[in-house]
Amino acid sequence: MAFPDHGIVIRVLDFLESNPDLEERFFRKVRKYSHGCWTFTGSRGGDGYGYFFIPELKCQIAAHRFSYLLEYGVLPEGLLVLHECDNKPCVRPDHLFLGTWKDNMVDKTNKGRNNAPAGMRNGGACLTDSQVMEIFSSTSTVIQLSEKFGISRSHVSAIRCGHVWKHLQHFNDRSKPKRKLPVGATLSKLVEDEVLEIRHLHSTGLWTYRSLGEEFAVSEITVANICKRRTWKHI
Ligand SMILES: [Zn+2]
Repeated sequence: MAFPDHGIVIRVLDFLESNPDLEERFFRKVRKYSHGCWTFTGSRGGDGYGYFFIPELKCQIAAHRFSYLLEYGVLPEGLLVLHECDNKPCVRPDHLFLGTWKDNMVDKTNKGRNNAPAGMRNGGACLTDSQVMEIFSSTSTVIQLSEKFGISRSHVSAIRCGHVWKHLQHFNDRSKPKRKLPVGATLSKLVEDEVLEIRHLHSTGLWTYRSLGEEFAVSEITVANICKRRTWKHI
């Protein structure tokens, strides 16, 4: 299932600006379960995803992608909207997160291997508020946190960036990175694990070189060199 729909995404965003009732039209086709998924009840594609048709634009957009767009206002080109709940017609924003094709494959493999009850597998749906706060304040790496809570790395990043769990973001202290060094101090030396994490985070499209530099207490140029593989070529 490919979503080479960036042109459509741009048109839909434009259209939404002058037609705010589109949101209401969309949610007329959504059944919300208070403690679970929000199921799109409109047309369903052969791939199992819901599709929302917009007659004025003579086009349709995958329902979960439209819902992500409504909630967050962005959908970077080339990224997929993945389901924490593994339920394709679900359009509940806090069950959705951005990821790459690779994340999608890893996510599917992890879900397939995991024999925990469905509820426990759906990390995004089942994190408690206090676990989310722990993710905000923890100095552990994204990789360590994704293993600890059984959620994808992208989801950890999305939590830290404030793309999900918005109602708790006032507790999010990530704007004051724990590792940030005092002015004048030498920049820190990275270890391999951190370099891999920087590359992974950059690939999600949610982090800029600058925000990664602040996060890891290194310069923006160091981050750019790592991501472009000018340095740390051996890993
Ligand atoms: Zn769901």
